[in-house]
Formats: sequence, C-alpha cells, structure tokens
Amino acid sequence: MISRNTQVGYTETQVNQIPAGPLGSSEEVSRRHDTGNAAGSMRGQLMRKIIEGVRSFQEHEFKENQDLFLVLAHGQSPRYLVITCSDSRVVPHLITGLGPGEIFVIRNAGNIVPPPTAGPSGEAASIEFAVIELKVKHVIVCGHSHCGAMTSLLNREGLERLPAVAGFLQFAEPARRIVKTRYPRLAGEDQVTQVVKENVLIQLGHLRSMGSVSAAIRRRELQVHGWVFMIETGEVLSYDATSKQFIPVERWLQDRSQISGSLI
Ligand SMILES: [Zn+2]
Repeated sequence: MISRNTQVGYTETQVNQIPAGPLGSSEEVSRRHDTGNAAGSMRGQLMRKIIEGVRSFQEHEFKENQDLFLVLAHGQSPRYLVITCSDSRVVPHLITGLGPGEIFVIRNAGNIVPPPTAGPSGEAASIEFAVIELKVKHVIVCGHSHCGAMTSLLNREGLERLPAVAGFLQFAEPARRIVKTRYPRLAGEDQVTQVVKENVLIQLGHLRSMGSVSAAIRRRELQVHGWVFMIETGEVLSYDATSKQFIPVERWLQDRSQISGSLI
C-alpha cells in the first residue's frame, strides 16, 4: 500500500509506483482521495502541478511576451533544427538560451535519425520539412551523458520487455559495435559516454545521407553538427572534424572563427 505524504507531496519512488491508467476528472480525483485511493490522489496532485504550471505560464511568460506570440501565430522561421533524446533532463531551449520560434525540435529515444533505407518515419518527415520548407541553417544532433537508450543498447538489459525500443535501437547498433571493438577497456559511464558520442556520429551519417540534407549541404546552405550535453557539468561538447574529438562548443567556435573568419 502506498502511503500519502501530506507535507511535501510524494517521493520519487511513490510517484513511480503510480499505476498507469486514465487520470480522471478533478472530482474523480477528490473522490478517490476521500475513499483513500492514494494512487488516484497522487495522480491528481501531479495534474494539479502541471496545470498550475500552465496557469503560471499564461499569467507571466505569455503576458510578458505577448507581442512575440502574436507574431509567431502567423508563422515560424527557426534557424536551427535540434535532434535530441526524449530524456527529461535534456532541455534544448534551456541549454541554448533560445526562445519560442527559434528551434525546430525532434526528440526520440537515443536522438536517432533512421537511415533513408528504413523508409518513411516521423524523423525523416520532420527533417525534410525543416530543411526544405523552413530552410534551417544548422542541424544539431545532440546526445547526452547517462543516456538510458544508449545504456540499454550497450547491455541490452530490459529490452525484452521493450520491443519497440529494441527495434528502434537497431539504428544505433553500429555505435555499440564500434565501442566494443575500439574501446574494449572502457566500462561503466565512460563506456556509455563513448557510445553516446559514437551514436551521434552514426546519426550524423544517416542525416547527411538524406537527399534533402545532402543537397542543402552541397549548396552551402546548411551545416550539420554533433553535440553531447553532459548533464552533470552542464558542458556542451561539439564534434571537431579536424581533431576527430568532441570539444567544448566555445572552443569549437573559437577554432572555427580563427580558420574561416566567419561562420555561415
Ligand atoms: Zn537519452
């Protein structure tokens, strides 16, 4: 039986124990509360929290940026497409400091770009739209440290009960093979981080092999980048093709500025 904590809400463990199911109306939540249905009460508390967030957004952030939202209502012209993991700890707008209308975002388990040979996919459709219609200037594939998808790819634990994840991770399989063969001594989180990096490069390869992307790169209208966000330090690393290493984005920018004098 899950106990209720009336002082500070619920512990993470308790929240994770909430059984899946419809959330129900607030009246229903209250009824469950009254009848001692702790799980229903917890779900109600979670919904209240997120709806409070919506109300706060409408009263503060939206009002303060109302002119911007009125302009955005007529269209978007983001300059960046970010393809990143669905992980809740990775927040593209927070990491980059960019706001509404500035980043077109694709998220999935493991920041994966299925190769063109995989056939139609949500990722392919969104990338095509971003490149051809929105004419984004930069596409960033962004992995992150402690990635659950990449950890599963490595040790395959738990994948038997997640067949959809297991199937999707096939598009990242080369990253696992590379790490196992080239970095046999790596273990633990170092091994995971290396898979994260290799996976970003594999997905960049898939991205470049898309017709719309390769054509835009050839026309010098598009650049693609590989990033890794380190959750524990806030550091963002960018792949440097010259040194074949991931380096801090600030250094990457500095190096590029010195070489070319400007960035497209
Ligand atoms: Zn992840």
